[in-house]
Amino acid sequence: MNLERLRARAQSFTEDVSREGYLAYSGLKPEAALQAIYERHADILDDDTLAGCIERFRNAAAGSEAARAARMMLEWQVESRVARRLAPLDEREVALENEAVIRVADGRVIPYQRASIDIANSNSASDRRALDTARARVVEESFAPLRLERLRCERDAVQALGIADGYNATFEALSGIPLGALAAECETFLRDTDAMWSSVLDERLRAFGVPRGEATRADSLALFRRREFDDAFPESAMEEVVRRNCAEMGIDANAAGRIVFDIGDRPGKRSRAFCSPVRVPDEVYLVLRPRGGQSDYGTFLHELGHALHFGNARADYPFEYRWLGDNSVTESYAMLFDHRLQQRDWLLRYTGLDRKRAAAYLRFAGFEELHFIRRYCAKLLYEMQVYGGAVDWNTLPDVYVEILAAATGFEYRRADAFVDLDSRFYSTRYLRAWQLQSLLDEGLVNRFDEDWWRNPAAGPWITGELFAQGQRESAGEVALRAAGAEISFVPLIRKIESLLES
Ligand SMILES: [Zn+2]
Repeated sequence: MNLERLRARAQSFTEDVSREGYLAYSGLKPEAALQAIYERHADILDDDTLAGCIERFRNAAAGSEAARAARMMLEWQVESRVARRLAPLDEREVALENEAVIRVADGRVIPYQRASIDIANSNSASDRRALDTARARVVEESFAPLRLERLRCERDAVQALGIADGYNATFEALSGIPLGALAAECETFLRDTDAMWSSVLDERLRAFGVPRGEATRADSLALFRRREFDDAFPESAMEEVVRRNCAEMGIDANAAGRIVFDIGDRPGKRSRAFCSPVRVPDEVYLVLRPRGGQSDYGTFLHELGHALHFGNARADYPFEYRWLGDNSVTESYAMLFDHRLQQRDWLLRYTGLDRKRAAAYLRFAGFEELHFIRRYCAKLLYEMQVYGGAVDWNTLPDVYVEILAAATGFEYRRADAFVDLDSRFYSTRYLRAWQLQSLLDEGLVNRFDEDWWRNPAAGPWITGELFAQGQRESAGEVALRAAGAEISFVPLIRKIESLLES
């Protein structure tokens, strides 16, 4: 199949998968009919197509546009072939998510999808523990075995392709992301911020009323929910606030109708928000299940960053640059938006916080930022062991609990070892996105001042220089072009320190 034909077919396949995902994960359809889609498009996932993708990847002149596109297309081909193998498992998981309930010891029966929302909204540590014990039981019985089977199948399928020696080396070859170097940066970050983390965690847990050493991941959900700020972040005002912010920075929040907001509550909707680019740039869904409070604002802004990115990608770019590439880039645009909640003047302008509460909010934001980055550093170190293959599957839950607890100070459950895991090293995308986002923010401050987010010249620049480029460039390339610097954790540590001193 020639490249032009493959591009057209790959796009139509990706649109079908994305639409099905949107319908199923937003609760509009009870199940996801993924296998039927893979069957319909079987001829672009056959061995000849794979061989063609490998050939284009190996033969393209180093550094050329053809090489750039060929790497993305091969990565897409590998992911899609593996996804086809995993489709029956994913279908089972979607069905399970929609029907599973948790049974709490006191007799309550709650949809599985609501468990994490209810835990985050609970004021009592014993209630959180009861809810989380019930949730973990369902995970252990149903979701964990399914995910373990999925992981095994994914690892075997990738290794069988023979593109590089093992899963991790194949990921590096296809993504261009050096895992070992990033893992070393994570270890350094964890070490460098350890003392800072320990002291801020002590202080926060004392204020929260949960003794250190007893704090669990369930407690962390409630802690970071920050209910004490709810009154300043009313759900009724959220959409208007976000629209006003976009208008003030010179961006159309709906991209002339290409972006659709699906932000109401609906049974069957996943608790984790997402953005579905069904057709790029013409049809993009932003899906959010509200929990209440400030975290909804952050989530909405995050998904809006994705939606605006896909909704403003250049329509004349090839399939690869609009749809594929390094997701660290889209994650960094999402974070560029959600990190407005770390800006004092933004909070004063768009929320109900006054100066005093804004300062308290920002100190907490520094704590939360440090927690999440440390958690993702730990996740990557753990996931490298999951995919690396040197550690036995039965031992991995112990490794998970140990690494995550050491980095965060919260107690983790063995049951979550294969569920709390972003497959295909998606954690690398988040980590690099954090790094890139902080550089982009600094670059925007240099160009458009501290309050670039309400400068009507900033939006058109962001749209034209960043969003329109799709994901043609890697995170490192965007950083060099837009901010003139290499991505690293250094500016993030600076930012966290300044937040903690607010
Ligand atoms: Zn995201």
